[in-house]
Amino acid sequence: MKREFAVIGLGRFGGSICYELSKEGMNVLAIDISEDKVNEFKNVASHAVIADSTDEATLKELGITNFDHVIVAIGDNIQASILTTVILSELGVNKITVKANNDYHAKIVNKIGAHHVVHPERDMGRRIAHSIISNNILDYLELSEDHSIVEVKVSHKMIGKSLVDLDIRANYGCNVVAIRQGNDINVSPRADEVLQEQEVLIVIGSDKDIARFEKELV
Ligand code: ADP
Repeated sequence: MKREFAVIGLGRFGGSICYELSKEGMNVLAIDISEDKVNEFKNVASHAVIADSTDEATLKELGITNFDHVIVAIGDNIQASILTTVILSELGVNKITVKANNDYHAKIVNKIGAHHVVHPERDMGRRIAHSIISNNILDYLELSEDHSIVEVKVSHKMIGKSLVDLDIRANYGCNVVAIRQGNDINVSPRADEVLQEQEVLIVIGSDKDIARFEKELV
C-alpha cells in the first residue's frame, strides 16, 4: 500500500519535500495557510488545501491522523510550528517530523512530541563549511552530535599507498568504509588496495578523529 504523507507549510523546505515525495509517486496532502502557496502546489501534490494548522478542528476534518507521516515545515512562525506539533502529538499522529529554526525550537518540539527534528540550514551550513575548508572534502554528513561521515578525494599524500600503508584506523581512529570512483562504489575495500588519483574515500569516525585525519592527510 502507498504511504500517505501530509506536508504542512509550503515554503522552500516544505515545498521541496512536497515536490520530491510527489515525484517519487507518494500520496501527499499539501497544506498551507496561504492561498497562493496552495495554488502553486495544486498540480504537484495529490491534494492541496488552504488551512491553518494551529486549528485543531481543521486538522481533524482533514483526517490528519490517517496519515503515516506528517511533516511540519513552518519556518519563521515558531509559535505556529509549536502549536501545530502539540496538536498533532495530542491527536496521536503516527510520525511527526518538524523543521527547527534553532536549538530552542528543536528542544521544545522534541519535548512536546515530535518524533524527528531536522535542522536543514544548520546542517547544510556545516556541510558547506567543511567543503570550503578543503577542496578535497566533497561532503560531510553528521551522524550524531560527535560522529560524522566525510567524503574525501584521495590526496597527494595518499596516492600510490594502500590502506595498510596509511593505517588510518590505528593512526586516526577512523574507518574507511568505502572507496568510490565516479558512480562505482566498493563497499568492502581490501587492506592492500592501492589508492589512485580520482578515487574518493568514505570515512566514518568521531569528529575529533576526522578533524585530525583531515588536517594531516587530506
Ligand atoms: P522556509 O524557510 O522553508 O521557506 P517559510 O517560513 O518561508 O519556510 O514558509 C513556511 C510556510 O508555512 C509558508 O508558506 C506559510 O504560509 C506557512 N504557514 C505559516 N503558518 C501556518 C499555519 N498556521 N498553517 C499552515 N501553514 C502555515
